[in-house]
Amino acid sequence: MPLDRSRYFDNAATTPLDPRVVAEMLPYLEEDFGNANSIHEWGRRAREGVELARERVAKLFGGSPDEIFFTSGATEANNWILSSFKSVAVSPFEHSSVWEAGIAKGFDVLDNEGYRLYGPRQSTDLLSVMVVCNESGAILELPEVGETTPSRVHRDATQALGKVPLNLADMDYASASAHKLYGPKGIGCLYVRDARPLPPMLFGGEQESGMRGGTLNVPAIVGFGAACAIALDQFEEDRAHAQELRQAFVAKLQGTSDWKSNCHDNNSPFILCLSFLGVQGETLVVEMDAAGFAISSGSACSSHSSEPSHFLESLGLPSRWSRGTVRIGFGRFNTLDQAERLATSLVSSVESLRALAK
Ligand code: PMP
Repeated sequence: MPLDRSRYFDNAATTPLDPRVVAEMLPYLEEDFGNANSIHEWGRRAREGVELARERVAKLFGGSPDEIFFTSGATEANNWILSSFKSVAVSPFEHSSVWEAGIAKGFDVLDNEGYRLYGPRQSTDLLSVMVVCNESGAILELPEVGETTPSRVHRDATQALGKVPLNLADMDYASASAHKLYGPKGIGCLYVRDARPLPPMLFGGEQESGMRGGTLNVPAIVGFGAACAIALDQFEEDRAHAQELRQAFVAKLQGTSDWKSNCHDNNSPFILCLSFLGVQGETLVVEMDAAGFAISSGSACSSHSSEPSHFLESLGLPSRWSRGTVRIGFGRFNTLDQAERLATSLVSSVESLRALAK
């Protein structure tokens, strides 16, 4: 029996494929299967699909097609950019694909204070700061960079592309991933301003201007392009929908005690991060699953760990609060009715779990 996607509220972890995306991908899984680097008709057709997708992705970024380099996703794009510089400063809020890469390479992983003071020090070649935090949805501002020439800036735009306005002027590089905007998994890109050459991510082929070898995943690239075209077309509609659901959800929580939002005043409408005292986030995820809803506890990427994420730690949230943290990810296929039902179900679970613990 197919699951009801209107009850799936984990859209920050991944989104369902939009049926319009599937329809555009299908011909490239069937008859137009050629290698995009071949010069014959099959190859030319595949190449056309890839280049149209590159244009569509670039348009959503607000850049030009030659600035888009396809990768296997945002993890690869993040790893690539961090491997391309000798010294990088990483904000305290980053996704693990930036944060752990930063730690592994011995880079400057900033704490809150270090981030605030980053501008005046500015001792690194690259600063990496995500646009929208995947755990709370906070829209992050760059720190003041002072008067000397600022280092280059990388922005992980994975939770932002197609969802919040992007300001390309404040980034030299940006990462994105198709599966966060109703496209397929395993495809993403690195935006490189002015297509400045970088050390190749994968050696061994002339694909992606020699910067990322390997036969192109044409159906996935086509799907990414289709997803970006749809996101551009219905940018305001998607945002208004998420905003409406989010507000209705929060309104249903008003009678409940001892909860707080970890969101920012300037937040993505697609993400709500809440903490409830006296309950475990994981237990709430399991309870909601039993009720037929998908939500997550903190970041899905770290949800197998019961430790508070480095992001929640960076907020300075006491552990009695961070333990009870859940993330609700609103999306295109959720309905108002289901958002309200989820809120009612969550409140009733919180109350019965608290009563049991007494
Ligand atoms: N950065 C952010 C902010 C993310 O939310 C994610 C996905 N959770 C990633 C990077 C990794 O993306 P991908 O799944 O495409 O590797």
